[in-house]
Amino acid sequence: MQFYSTNNKNLSSNLKNAVLQGLAPDNGLYMPEHIPVMPEEFWQQLPNLSLGEIGFETLRHFFCPDIPEEVFHQITDEAFNFPIPVVPVSEEISALELFHGPTLAFKDIGSRFLARVMSQFTENGGKPINVLVATSGDTGSAVANGFLGVEGVNVIILYPEGLVSEVQEKQFTTLGQNIQALEVKGTFDDCQRLVKTAFMDEALRQEIVLTSANSINLARFLPQMVYYFYAFGQIKRQDWKDTVICVPSGNFGNLTAGVIAAQMGLPVKRFVAATNVNDIVPHYLETGNYHPAPSIATPANAMDVGDPSNFVRIQTIFDNNLNKIQDCLTGLSVTDEQIKETIRIVFKKHRYVLDPHGAVGYRALQKNLKKDEKGIFLATAHPAKFPETVEMETQQKIQQPQRLERFMHGTKSTTALTKNYSDLKCFLETSSVFKT
Ligand SMILES: *Cc1c(COP(=O)(O)O)cnc(C)c1O
Repeated sequence: MQFYSTNNKNLSSNLKNAVLQGLAPDNGLYMPEHIPVMPEEFWQQLPNLSLGEIGFETLRHFFCPDIPEEVFHQITDEAFNFPIPVVPVSEEISALELFHGPTLAFKDIGSRFLARVMSQFTENGGKPINVLVATSGDTGSAVANGFLGVEGVNVIILYPEGLVSEVQEKQFTTLGQNIQALEVKGTFDDCQRLVKTAFMDEALRQEIVLTSANSINLARFLPQMVYYFYAFGQIKRQDWKDTVICVPSGNFGNLTAGVIAAQMGLPVKRFVAATNVNDIVPHYLETGNYHPAPSIATPANAMDVGDPSNFVRIQTIFDNNLNKIQDCLTGLSVTDEQIKETIRIVFKKHRYVLDPHGAVGYRALQKNLKKDEKGIFLATAHPAKFPETVEMETQQKIQQPQRLERFMHGTKSTTALTKNYSDLKCFLETSSVFKT
């Protein structure tokens, strides 16, 4: 399949280039030129299919035969290897728990898939692919763990010294193998600037292959469609047409994947686009005015995004037609106080522990759901990742899952860097690991 740029439908690329470039040359985002509709047979079998099988059946239309089918089957089996259950919370609302992967965040799903797809594009005996990421905490751990041990790909993570939490730091500095962590004397913005400067350094890029792993990469957001299908496989077929899905959103990669699943035939009634007070998209859905703004800090901090990078993909799917977008999506924003109150009330009433992001989803869904409708919200992070807020509201100590504990026993290994670009360049140029 070819992939076109959201800025220009005539500018298209094959899978390999689209994955390795991330962004199209005209700075647009890549979109599949064709979205297949799944046949009736698929829907009949859905309740019996594993996550890996659903991944194979739905994603192969985009990724094969560029990746041979038998190799691709192995990729989907390996990437989607942890449970994603639908868990009832109240009478009409259930959580789709996306946080049972290695770093307890839904970003594990896209990262694990992207890593395995990228490794297909390192030529035999050729140069390795080097993934350069700046992180303020969470993205680094999901990417590092997603790529860990994947052949032919190195991950280099830049993070600000002393500015990420200990748990987060441990999750990407203790891994070894193909993962290197660079501890930068500076801020997250300095890390991002260093990464951007490296991407623009043509001389460096002659020497080593550099790429990125954020949700603008089509091989990171597309695999997220699998759990929308999987969720429907877990509920009764007679409920499908009355089911509303609520997606707590920041950069809108997750919701974009859901909208594509709907284009492929998922009979979801509508989506609720839930945000914290960074309400650019809900505001647009209500008024038609799209105004990016500086981001505001909230307890659901992975969604503190003032200029959502993937929303343009949704606009492109609906030919920029606001009415069509509104038929599919309703927007709602949730305040900090409402996030806390929701964690408190849902625990008290239903004994279900929400994290702040899931709380945004639950709250928006509850507000939007009509009589006789059923709702599923995406629970995007494990509550143990946000102990301060969660313990304060539930008045309960939260148990750290073993997966997190294991990281805490590892030994930190990093390379210290100043915030001068020449330092990073020197690091990348002098190690032979990145070249051969
Ligand atoms: C990244 C993230 C989100 C936002 O997802 P988008 O695809 O950027 O909309 C929501 N919740 C958590 C916990 C996240 O890490």
